[in-house]
Amino acid sequence: MLIPLDNNILQEIAQTYGTPVYVYHAEKIADQFKKLTTAFTGVNARFFYACKALTNISILKYIRSLGCNIDCSSINEVHIALKAGFAPANILYTSNGIAFEEIQTAVELGVNINIDSLSNLEKFGKTYGHLYPVGIRLLPNIMAGGNLKISTGHENSKFGIPVYQLNQILALVERYKLRIVGLHIHTGSEIKDVEVFIKVADIFFELAPHFPELEFLDMGGGFKVPYKENEQGTDIYLLAQEVSAVLNKFDATYGKKFQVWFEPGKFLVSEAGSFITQVNVLKTNTNLNFAGINSGFNHLIRPMFYDSYHRITNISNTEAPTKEYAVVGNICETDTFAWNRPLNEVREGDLLVFHNAGAYGFEMGSNYNSRFLPAQVLHKNGQAHLIRKRDELADLWRNQIELD
Ligand SMILES: *Cc1c(COP(=O)(O)O)cnc(C)c1O
Repeated sequence: MLIPLDNNILQEIAQTYGTPVYVYHAEKIADQFKKLTTAFTGVNARFFYACKALTNISILKYIRSLGCNIDCSSINEVHIALKAGFAPANILYTSNGIAFEEIQTAVELGVNINIDSLSNLEKFGKTYGHLYPVGIRLLPNIMAGGNLKISTGHENSKFGIPVYQLNQILALVERYKLRIVGLHIHTGSEIKDVEVFIKVADIFFELAPHFPELEFLDMGGGFKVPYKENEQGTDIYLLAQEVSAVLNKFDATYGKKFQVWFEPGKFLVSEAGSFITQVNVLKTNTNLNFAGINSGFNHLIRPMFYDSYHRITNISNTEAPTKEYAVVGNICETDTFAWNRPLNEVREGDLLVFHNAGAYGFEMGSNYNSRFLPAQVLHKNGQAHLIRKRDELADLWRNQIELD
């Protein structure tokens, strides 16, 4: 049984490295990966960590050491993955809206590629014909998860080639003898409902006969993790069961065994991350008690950007009675993390911890207001390791060119 990082450990890390600081629990990442591989025992599945959730190179090396593959959303992520030691065959580049030059670089680097537009598919055909295997990212017209900002499969989404343009895809395949080895559909993030993945499988089932060289069916990522107390995540075991049944159906109908690929981002790293901040100021107005912390949406944008919920705890005053607080940041914008949040009584100097902050936390951070990006720490084998220094002043003008 995995023991979570307790408050003492978090306090020590805050003391050693200062705040704000992101802390990642290596064994929790391993535990999540094990959940996947255990659930999918006996299923011909491959997992590609969607690294845009968290790209720190020490984290990537750790994830590689677990035996996981990697999914990249830009050519720079492909370069980072190579630097972290992933073999090209274990790297997947699922592009969207990119310049064809990036696809050419991906081919030169020898990684797996999913293409998401007819235009790039045509350029790919003209350049490589049958020479280089490729997957197609499709748009299925499925609304998943309920939040338009993080749903990518609905009819007005920019992602993928709409399934109804199948004839155009097939015309390109025919003209350039394209070697289509994979079909890809990623419907979005925070998908609790296993049904969504089965709908995707049904689409693959319809399409498979059109692509005789097909080897893998890529169902994307988007497994939900619980953010609130008592919330349910995606039932990975149920998913594995249903996917296994679908693969058997493929086998029985087409006499062919396909591999199924997944691209979990959040599922692997979200719960492993804690973001430690410190309270600068307390302020009261007629309706609210503000707890003003030494951070803002420049460090954790999810609450303001997606209305997402992060559990927050005061680890400095755990025995005190609770009061309601508006937890706000220190940048010159409305950067509210939570409006009416019961917390153990907060005092200036207390440490407030944001839970489930491993995915899309640091990664979406910026230097807005000329604030430093936080430090990052990986806690592994009972020890804390600094894996990224906090910025310093020189970082803020590093690439600037000073005219007289
Ligand atoms: C972002 C992304 C993922 C990962 O999504 P999570 O919600 O973090 O699991 C997987 N595949 C693609 C193509 C993505 O863009």
